[in-house]
Amino acid sequence: MSGHLAVVGLGPGGARYFTPEADAALAAAEALYGYGPYLDRVPERAGQRRHASDNREERARAVAALRDAAAGTRVAVVSGGDPGVFAMAAAVCEQIEAGPESWRALDLVIVPGITAMLAVAARIGAPLGHDFCALSLSDNLKPWELVEQRLDAAASAGFVMALYNPVSRARPWQFGAAIERLRRHLPGATPVVFGRAVGRPDEQISITTLGAADATGADMATLIIVGSRATRVVQRPGRAPLVYTPRAIAEVSA
Ligand code: SAH
Repeated sequence: MSGHLAVVGLGPGGARYFTPEADAALAAAEALYGYGPYLDRVPERAGQRRHASDNREERARAVAALRDAAAGTRVAVVSGGDPGVFAMAAAVCEQIEAGPESWRALDLVIVPGITAMLAVAARIGAPLGHDFCALSLSDNLKPWELVEQRLDAAASAGFVMALYNPVSRARPWQFGAAIERLRRHLPGATPVVFGRAVGRPDEQISITTLGAADATGADMATLIIVGSRATRVVQRPGRAPLVYTPRAIAEVSA
């Protein structure tokens, strides 16, 4: 029997970011797997089983979902934002590669969602309008030295950066260290955006500079965009400033 497994992105929060394709994939599922707070966002449907697990149990969740799908169940695994960005789609692929041959025969569908950096960027202008990269500051799955190396490389290459996973209870100092690191490469006036709980009722967006950025302003639900030397802040009367990165750069050093 060839089972079916959908890895579904819920977007950053709120129904308006939830795509019709994600809705259809969840409606068709017999069993849902995911981190509890994400599952809570999915409307209850009669006859559908729910398997909530802890945030840190991505590997075990992927294995359980694959086993269930391989047994013939129509399974959906949910992820916040996009499932392919620091989330469950890669965890499922890892287990398909490592697991029994039969898992490769499963019908696997990845349903994209709006990732946090796009939702934050859209709130304040177009900071990702030129070349950018996304980094996770979590050193759970890679050494901190590698995070530092990538911050150095991205800042000196002129990329705007979207920083995911800035802090957690187990990682209290990493974001402060990342800001310090970036100050070695970029001017104090570089625009920095903190976007917290974007798309949810408690959403907060703030614009500051690298010189003034305060690491305590970020929590687990915050995405930070650090501008490049080219990123601009346009003041507007009676409105929040626009932060954007122009599409064209004339000089190699920019
Ligand atoms: N798959 C998710 C990212 C998972 S990593 C996505 O595509 O968005 C978890 C990190 O994503 C958080 O630490 C935070 O940096 C960011 N994040 C997730 N949802 C967010 C939201 N609503 N607002 C701001 N940042 C968010």
